[in-house]
Amino acid sequence: MTACEYANIIIDISHEKVDRLFQYRIPDSLKESVDIGCAVEVPFGKGNNVRKGYVLELTDEPNWDVSKIKEILSVPQDDMSAEEISIKLAAWMKRYYGSTMIAALKTVLPATKKMKRQVHKYVALNMDEAQVRHYYQECIRKKQKARERVLAELLIEPDEKIPYEFITTKLNVSTATIKSLSDNGYIRVDEEEYFRKPKMHETSRYGAKELSDEQRHIVESFVSDYDQGKRDTYLIHGITGSGKTEVYIALIDEVIKRGKQAIVLIPEIALTYQTLMRFYRHFGDRVSVMNSTLSPGEKYDQMERARCGDIDIIIGPRSALFTPFPNTGIIIIDEEHETTYKSEAMPKYHVRETAIKLAELLPDGASVVLGSATPSLESYYRAQNGQYHLFKLERRLTGGTLPTVEIADLREELRSGNRSIFSRRLQELMEDRLNSGQQAMLFINRRGLAGFISCRSCGYVFKCPHCDVSLSEHRGGRLVCHYCGYEQPLTKICPKCGSKYVSSFRAGTQQIEDEVKKFWPMARVLRMDADTTKAKGSYDKILSSFANKEADVLVGTQMIVKGHDFPDVTLVGILAADMSLYASDYRASERTFQLLTQAAGRAGRGDKAGNVVIQTYQPEHYSIQTASKQDYDSFYEEEIAYRDLLRYPPISHMMSVQIMSYDEEMGMQFASRLRAMMELQKKEGAVFIGPAAAAIGKINDIYRMAVYVKMDDYDGLVAYKDMLEKYIRQLEDAGKMKKISVQFDFDPVHGF
Ligand code: ADP
Ligand code: ZN
Ligand code: ZN
Repeated sequence: MTACEYANIIIDISHEKVDRLFQYRIPDSLKESVDIGCAVEVPFGKGNNVRKGYVLELTDEPNWDVSKIKEILSVPQDDMSAEEISIKLAAWMKRYYGSTMIAALKTVLPATKKMKRQVHKYVALNMDEAQVRHYYQECIRKKQKARERVLAELLIEPDEKIPYEFITTKLNVSTATIKSLSDNGYIRVDEEEYFRKPKMHETSRYGAKELSDEQRHIVESFVSDYDQGKRDTYLIHGITGSGKTEVYIALIDEVIKRGKQAIVLIPEIALTYQTLMRFYRHFGDRVSVMNSTLSPGEKYDQMERARCGDIDIIIGPRSALFTPFPNTGIIIIDEEHETTYKSEAMPKYHVRETAIKLAELLPDGASVVLGSATPSLESYYRAQNGQYHLFKLERRLTGGTLPTVEIADLREELRSGNRSIFSRRLQELMEDRLNSGQQAMLFINRRGLAGFISCRSCGYVFKCPHCDVSLSEHRGGRLVCHYCGYEQPLTKICPKCGSKYVSSFRAGTQQIEDEVKKFWPMARVLRMDADTTKAKGSYDKILSSFANKEADVLVGTQMIVKGHDFPDVTLVGILAADMSLYASDYRASERTFQLLTQAAGRAGRGDKAGNVVIQTYQPEHYSIQTASKQDYDSFYEEEIAYRDLLRYPPISHMMSVQIMSYDEEMGMQFASRLRAMMELQKKEGAVFIGPAAAAIGKINDIYRMAVYVKMDDYDGLVAYKDMLEKYIRQLEDAGKMKKISVQFDFDPVHGF
């Protein structure tokens, strides 16, 4: 419903044409029913043929000669087409997260630039298995490692073919080696057009595993709901190895049996070949993948295949949610706590909420399944409230024991004269592993390294008295809060213990690599961080080279803790576990708990027992204590109490109004004005904080600052956002927003 005079309408719905809008007058009789996102019938072109269009914008400003603007004919109430669902979803995103309708539409509509079909290459065995095994033994004897790797992989499933790219990247085998193997007739390289005809009766080629009782309970409850027409959101809480992926596969089986399709979201970084192969083995050609390494043409092909029924299942990162299946029945979000599920560009949508909204809009509805070993506070809170249905998988099916986790108190180390970055216990274990030919991972938690200051003697951290987040060091010896702007001078003496070891902690991966080489000159070290993974393919290369045991130690940032299985890693050292505790945002403890739990889970994946050493200045902190015991529930209790006390999400909601300005002074004034405007229309329960400089106060000479509003009522925040958007739109129209821009972020996940 609208009070506006005109509607800007899109006729041709495609990613490339969302900017081409046509304006129509809204007759009074239709003002009740016209709204953003709704379908309308309009006279179009010279012949005034009736066409269906969609309303993207409402306005009182005519674009051109008023007498020539035509009128909307009607608002049809027929069934929603796939396009209409996309537009409705975009309209919801625009309202719920703040952005223009065009930006929202560009997010939900897949790019449709047509490209020519791609050919994919595969490698398969070309001789009978016994002969190949014979030659394989020979390669082992001759220490022909690369050949050995290719053949070993192919021999796992002798009838399977493996993507060519997998061999060259993940297995790190040169094209020359492949050519030689194929010239000698052991293997062959096949080419196939990627966009293939569907094959029938493929789904149970590889029988599913017999489900455990826990797993079966989930599948049965889900199916029972589903067949009663109940669509719900389910959260599966289960540690890595507890069989979540197996449950996803069983659920998808059930849903596609009922003629529906499935979307599986996996964070890009955790999208390993091992996981993909499990889906491929089970679903064959009916499954496809989207990820950033696909060319635009390949992406287009996958979207087309989804649209025309050539596949039933798509696996991919965040954007795969917008796959245009005719009838999506289930949306699975694995590792649902991952921050990459929140967009950093406008609209700053969270894929979890957006998936739930999409599921609602679909004509038959869809169910959403979230899975994680360390669920986000949001999801667990909602599961506790009964908004989501909670399932637990308590047992690890992979066998192997959970690693032994020890905490090394760095204050203690300092006191006893150990000034190196390795605690004595970690040194001991490193020696042991290097001597016995096992592998170790050293993980430095660099998240939130925004200049927090702590006492290295007692672990005291300087925090904002109003917001309970860490203060950050700024120019001129000031400590600043990034939420409210509170500041205090930087002192050199610890207020708690009086020591003078007050400093920011700045060890990097490079430094650790150097230290390892100094301590253990014989160790072969690999390093993985933003620097060493810049080049295309280098990420996979480092991981596969470590997996192939070409190094003893892998040093890295959070990149190394995701997904990958290294059965020979029996030691994980977490060097500065508390680092992420001091990120200047309210999710710091949650992030820390997740990282530590994940990192610890890297040890002892094979049949050998593993050790984990967590080095920290704050051994008593609940994130560290609970992570060392892999005790999610205790962590949750502590953390939710903290959120409750300070009214942070998920207890309440928070909107961040982010201002970017070429001029610092002007930006701050503008931010204050926005705050004042909101305060003038004070709503019950609204709490205003700031403006304050952002965690990254300046990027490319653009100053950044933010105002925060906390409120229990999400719609109240949306109303504030709408008011500010309207005001900003007026300023833009008057040409007064040239030096300032504003973005909104609801329940922020990324620091700003
Ligand atoms: P998660 O996704 O929770 O990490 P997975 O589904 O990958 O767990 O399961 C872990 C391992 O256990 C895999 O190797 C999988 O093949 C195996 N597995 C899962 N379910 C079963 C089952 N019901 N019976 C036997 N093995 C199983
Ligand atoms: Zn101190
Ligand atoms: Zn503060």
